[in-house]
Amino acid sequence: MRAPEITLAEFQEKFRREADCQDFLFKRKWPDGFRCPACGNDTYWAIHKADHLLYECRRCRHQTSLTAGTIFHRTRLPLWKWLWAIFFVARDKRGHSALALKKDIQVNYKGALRMLRRIRSAMAQRDAGYTLGGLPTEVDDAYFGGQDRDSGHCGRGTTQVPVLVAITLGSAEGEYPEFLRMLPLKKLDRPTVEAALKKMVEPGSELKTDGLSVYSGLEDAGYQHERIVMAGLSPQAHFRWVHIAISNAKAFIDGTFHGVTKQYLGEYLDEFCYRFNRRRWEGELFGRLVNACLAAKPLAAPSRAT
Ligand SMILES: [Zn+2]
Repeated sequence: MRAPEITLAEFQEKFRREADCQDFLFKRKWPDGFRCPACGNDTYWAIHKADHLLYECRRCRHQTSLTAGTIFHRTRLPLWKWLWAIFFVARDKRGHSALALKKDIQVNYKGALRMLRRIRSAMAQRDAGYTLGGLPTEVDDAYFGGQDRDSGHCGRGTTQVPVLVAITLGSAEGEYPEFLRMLPLKKLDRPTVEAALKKMVEPGSELKTDGLSVYSGLEDAGYQHERIVMAGLSPQAHFRWVHIAISNAKAFIDGTFHGVTKQYLGEYLDEFCYRFNRRRWEGELFGRLVNACLAAKPLAAPSRAT
């Protein structure tokens, strides 16, 4: 059964005060009650600092917070801004831009960008925990246009980045798609394609690709492989879902984010795939995304003071 989507009015009511947000995150982080991350003890003192709340273990005195070790690590923003940001991202199926977020929750543009990068990282980490498998899979590559600030004498140029796309089919007849992964590649050659595929699709799976030579070694790599060499046939007949996913991903990136630099292409694709893979649970997306943010590790190179 589909959960009803939380409305703006309900959200506003539920997360009116910072304390509401703390209670909500506490229950999400420790659904069975507080648990000290250092010693496993379940009793604590709450210590209210100027702008944040600490939980000190009564046994080992270890101090932790709701945000420690999560995607919100070392945030200086109030929790309500984070929950609102997640709400808007979850609600807007076409994505939420930094410009819109800046206005919605009154942060500066760079701050909004950093928040969205952290939320996307949580999405990416969630999906990276799954590989596609057990279903027939269409695989194809596509070039995504990126604006590259590092190229060209005037500081701008256009770079096309190859992206490998894999989508599983829910039935042998391929009537509907199931799950999707996309990965930008440094280059489109055989070893790079094989390495990327192994991150996305379980060996042993049944793959369908076109006749491009980069796909020629997939049987040796442990896949069941059907190569379809086009001879005047419309590729749509064979690669329907992977082509739809590619054109929808391009529209998603161009429509909301007005294109993307090469550096960030992977993050936008992660967001697109995360949404696609949860399209049947749209009403639950806010709660799922909060859980993903709490479970995800902080960004490897933490952005300053978001
Ligand atoms: Zn402890």
